Amino acid sequence: MTSTAYILIGSNLGDREKYLSSAIAMIKETPGLELCDRSSVYSSEAQQMANGTPSFLNQAVKVKTEFTSSELLTALQTIEQAFGRTDKGKQLSRTIDLDILLYDAEIVETERLTIPHPELLNRAFALIPLIEIDPELVHPLTGRRLKDYLNDEDFKLVRQKEEHGPVIY
Ligand code: ATP
Ligand code: CA
Ligand code: CA
Repeated sequence: MTSTAYILIGSNLGDREKYLSSAIAMIKETPGLELCDRSSVYSSEAQQMANGTPSFLNQAVKVKTEFTSSELLTALQTIEQAFGRTDKGKQLSRTIDLDILLYDAEIVETERLTIPHPELLNRAFALIPLIEIDPELVHPLTGRRLKDYLNDEDFKLVRQKEEHGPVIY
């Protein structure tokens, strides 16, 4: 069965734009993943991280996949490793971070995987790119529209950096 998942790509080290576009290229090239859409690139200051942490670029993508949510996480971790992401540990700068935000309306709570992403509702830098792709998305646990969790201040802190271009299939 084909599922729809939304992934947030983040980078705050090195050539961040290039890392985002390379990660999207790798998603497109991964057998079993079909890229459907992507948001613009957004920029925001690091939150809850050490002073001086470089700012983040974030971009959401929508994929169709035959993978289970667990298989999807494995595929994304393989891509992270290809970018030299060995710095496993929260609150660290990274070239590429790939988080599963939503997988259909599935609710997952295992040691390895929590879906919807546990911080989604607290993170404007994840919500804003996500609703750019699909404005009417609903949170599977609360049943409320994701856009209802955002206020004007959020849109000031998470700035659209560039419009997305056409998706090339
Ligand atoms: P955060 O999850 O708060 O954004 P992080 O992305 O910095 O933090 P990582 O070090 O990238 O955290 O990942 C830690 C672990 O989180 C991963 O090894 C993975 O097993 C787990 N994880 C749980 N839920 C998810 C999810 N929805 N998407 C990606 N990883 C997840
Ligand atoms: Ca993350
Ligand atoms: Ca992560």
